[in-house]
Amino acid sequence: MSSANMTIFRAYAQKSNPASLPPSILFSHSETCLTVFDAFPKSIFHLLVIPRVRPPFNVYQLANLRSLLKCEKNCAKELLMGLSREANNVKKMIESEMFKKYGFKWEIWMGFHAIPSMEHLHLHVLSADLCSPRMKLKKHYNSFHPKCGFFIHLSDVLSWFDADPSYYKTTSQLKKSEYEPLLKEDLSCWKCDRNLSNMPKLKSHLQEEFDKLSDQEKAKVERERKRSDDLAQTSSSQISLND
Ligand SMILES: [Zn+2]
Ligand SMILES: [Zn+2]
Repeated sequence: MSSANMTIFRAYAQKSNPASLPPSILFSHSETCLTVFDAFPKSIFHLLVIPRVRPPFNVYQLANLRSLLKCEKNCAKELLMGLSREANNVKKMIESEMFKKYGFKWEIWMGFHAIPSMEHLHLHVLSADLCSPRMKLKKHYNSFHPKCGFFIHLSDVLSWFDADPSYYKTTSQLKKSEYEPLLKEDLSCWKCDRNLSNMPKLKSHLQEEFDKLSDQEKAKVERERKRSDDLAQTSSSQISLND
């Protein structure tokens, strides 16, 4: 990837008017952050929440999670809480899209890559499926596997602030030597832990997992719809009995 592509989030974060970004890129924005569509989605829904460059932070402190965690602790936590609030708004919008397009909603993950491939801090908000035509390489998959460790859940990062200061200091270093090997781990289904020998097999297994979930959830929605229909019928027949 060219260096211009590597710093594209930084350019977005420095925009005084994010609304000037095309709707194919920009999902939403606020005073403190902006949310964009991931150009190479690794799940059915995949967005990125990016902090805008504002005091007390400069662009270098917002380069990545590691640089942010080196800043004054309360300021760093405040910034992450802001991202969390925005991510929760985004989550609600994704859930309503899920209902519209798929007839049910499923889990949504929020987290950071331990070693990001792009400059400027960005929080991944993605649906828990990892089903996407853009999911091609083992390192892509492992980087989002929710139990592999390379993908660091936002809730975990927030919990570091309440941990022992020495734990915070060590963990927040996000040592490359500890995280890089995780990308080379054997492929396994994030849902049922089954080992798969290659990406095509993994991808078709993930699709099966999604289809299974879809069938279950749609049946659940249907049962609930029927139950409320029945209830409505019972109450209307009661009304007519009362007449
Ligand atoms: Zn990333
Ligand atoms: Zn599985």
